[in-house]
Amino acid sequence: MGDNFITLTIGKQKNIALIAHDNKKADLIAWCETNKEILKNHFLCGTGTTARMITDRTGLPVRGYNSGPLGGDQQIGAKIVEGKVDFIIFFSDPLTAQPHDPDVKALLRIAQVYDIPIANNRASADFMIKSQYMNEEYEHEIINFQKNIKERSQTL
Ligand code: PGA
Repeated sequence: MGDNFITLTIGKQKNIALIAHDNKKADLIAWCETNKEILKNHFLCGTGTTARMITDRTGLPVRGYNSGPLGGDQQIGAKIVEGKVDFIIFFSDPLTAQPHDPDVKALLRIAQVYDIPIANNRASADFMIKSQYMNEEYEHEIINFQKNIKERSQTL
């Protein structure tokens, strides 16, 4: 792979972002309650309303960003780029049009670029949270963004 990629480590203690569209908020809160003993060992954040509701209903500390439609998904995307979010549980609603659909797509895309595990329904979330990697560091290959800029600036 040469130096086109760099190895980054998702720590043992994950930085988990929690997001749920309105029709899925109750499901995500129930999922958090079920998995509270695991989640409390990690750093939690989320879009504004989701974060507040999870904290209110489960007692888990969840750092809240802006509400999703007001830029919260984009804030979480930016944290991925900065290496400060490395695991996402996003209960999205596939049956309702969202005003912030472009932001949702952008978040999914940037998670893909940075090889961030992202669950978009309960079964995926269950498989991820029960993974052996939840208790270990995980090394993965990320595009070498410094080299990418260097090459582009010299060739374009
Ligand atoms: P919310 O945003 O948690 O503020 O409701 C979630 C979303 O719709 O992206």
